[in-house]
Amino acid sequence: MEDIVSLCKRRGFVFQSSEIYGGVAGFYDYGPLGVELVNNLKSAWWDAMVKDHDNIYGIDGAIIQHPLLWEASGHVAGFTDPMVEDAVTHKRYRADHLAGVDTTDLKELSDLLRDKKSPDGNPISEPRYFNMMMQTWIGPVQDDAARAYLRPETAGAIYVNFLNVKDSMRAKLPFGIAQIGKAFRNEISPRDFIFRVRELEQMEMQYFIRPQMQDETYEQWREFAWKFLVDKLGIKESSLTWHEHDENERAHYAKAAHDIYFNFPQGPKELWGTHNRTDYDLSNHARVSGKDLMYVDEVGGDRFYPYVIESSVGVGRMLLAVLSDAYTKEEINGESRIVLKLKPSLAPYKVAVSPLLKNKPELISLAKDIYGQLKSEFGMVIWDDNGNIGKRYRRQDEIGTPFCVTIDFASLEDKTVTIRNRDTTKQERCSIDGLIDALREGLKQ
Ligand code: ATP
Repeated sequence: MEDIVSLCKRRGFVFQSSEIYGGVAGFYDYGPLGVELVNNLKSAWWDAMVKDHDNIYGIDGAIIQHPLLWEASGHVAGFTDPMVEDAVTHKRYRADHLAGVDTTDLKELSDLLRDKKSPDGNPISEPRYFNMMMQTWIGPVQDDAARAYLRPETAGAIYVNFLNVKDSMRAKLPFGIAQIGKAFRNEISPRDFIFRVRELEQMEMQYFIRPQMQDETYEQWREFAWKFLVDKLGIKESSLTWHEHDENERAHYAKAAHDIYFNFPQGPKELWGTHNRTDYDLSNHARVSGKDLMYVDEVGGDRFYPYVIESSVGVGRMLLAVLSDAYTKEEINGESRIVLKLKPSLAPYKVAVSPLLKNKPELISLAKDIYGQLKSEFGMVIWDDNGNIGKRYRRQDEIGTPFCVTIDFASLEDKTVTIRNRDTTKQERCSIDGLIDALREGLKQ
C-alpha cells in the first residue's frame, strides 16, 4: 500500500485533500493523471452498462433529495455502523472491525469486545450504533424542518425516478437505470487510502424485473460484474473472489447478496456488490410518498411492484484495485523498474513523444510535428525531452504509458521512428507514415 500511495502522490494520481492545511481524514483529490484514469474507468462502465444495452437508461440525480426519501429507504433509522470509543483518546472505531467479525449485532459485539482494548491500548466503551448520513440544512434557518442529507448512496435518485424514466422512455420490464455520482458517508474510521472514504463516488445500476425473473437476472448481473473487471479492466482473475453474504451481513430485505472481493494491499475486501433487493424500495417509496409505483403489465393488466437487482461499485475502490493489480516491480536486463501494466484503454497517456536530444532544432521540429499529429489522433499524448532516454522510458513506465515514440537522427534521413513497448520494452522501427496505424493497433489490446 505504501508503494501505491507514494506513486499516486509522486506522479499526480491522488492527493490528500486540503493537504497544505493538514488534510481531512477520508477525503482525497484526484490529480491530473488520476482524473484521466478515473474518467476512463467511468466511461468503460457507462459504455458497458448504458451504451451496450438497449434497455438501460442513464440518469444523473441530485445529491440532495427530499429528506423523506431517506426515511422510506430505511437510512434515517438504520444506516448505522456499530462503534466503540476509546475512553482516553476519544477516538472512535468500528466495533466489527475491532472484533474482526462481519456482524453488526450489538450483543454479539459486546461479548466479543469484553476484554478488548483500543488500538492505543486503552479501555473502550460498549458498542453503539452511529448513523453515517451527513446532514445539512436547506435555506437560511437551521432547524429540524430544514434538515437534509447528502445522499449516502446514489440509488435513491433512481427509485424516485422510476416512473419518470419508465414513462419518458416508454420502458417495459425488464429495464435498468444507471447512474454515476458522489455519495457521502460519515465513516467512523476512514482508512486504507481511498478504500474507505467519506466522500465517495459510486456506479450503480438498478434493474427492474418481474419477480419470477429474480434468480436468472441475479446470476446475469453477477457474471456481468466479474467479466467487466477481467475483460474491460484487465484485472487478473486470481485477484478476485466471490463472497456471499450470510444472514447476519445481509440487509433484512435483501434476498441474496454477493460481493466480488479484490485482493487489495490490505487484504481481500469488497469491491463490487450484486444484491437482490426484492420489491423493498419501490413498495416503501410508494408507501411514504403516497404515489402509485406499481407496474401494470401490458398483457393481462397484472399490477405489482417490480423486483430490483442492484449492481453497485465504488469508483475509488475500482481505481485502487486497478492500480494495485497493474503495479509491478521487475528486473529487466539487470535493471529494476516500476511499471503500471494498465490496459491501454485505461492508461492516462496513450503515447509519449521524445526527440532524442533537446538541443537539435531539426530533431525538435520533426518531433513536434509528429507530436501534433498523434495528439489530434489520440488526445492524451505527452511530450518528454527531459533527461536521458532510459530515464524517460522509466518515467512513462511508472504512469503506464503504453508506447513511447523516439525521434532520432536516422528519422531525419529515412523517415522512421522508434516505437518502444511498455510491457516488453522492445523497440521497433516504424515509418512515420505508418505510425498512427501501428499505434492504433497496439492500443486496441
Ligand atoms: P463496506 O461493507 O465496505 O462498508 P458497503 O457494503 O456498505 O461497503 P455498499 O453500500 O454496498 O457498500 O456500497 C456499494 C459500493 O460502494 C461498495 O461495493 C464499495 O465499492 C463502495 N463503497 C461503499 N462505501 C465506501 C466508502 N466508505 N469508501 C469508498 N467506497 C465505498
